[in-house]
Amino acid sequence: MNKHLIWIDGDDFSGWCCSRCTWGMTAPRLESTVAALAFNRVAQEDFEKHTCVHNAQADA
Ligand SMILES: [Zn+2]
Repeated sequence: MNKHLIWIDGDDFSGWCCSRCTWGMTAPRLESTVAALAFNRVAQEDFEKHTCVHNAQADA
């Protein structure tokens, strides 16, 4: 089962999280759509590169 990028918007945390591990990227204060799109692109790239901690051996 592949990992998924999940958007979390809560009181303590707003940003992207991984569905399978504790990876997360906190969203900065985004003041424009362009900034939001840029952040989302970076988050997507980082997400694709990370290795899920809990399932590192299973993924290997
Ligand atoms: Zn993960």
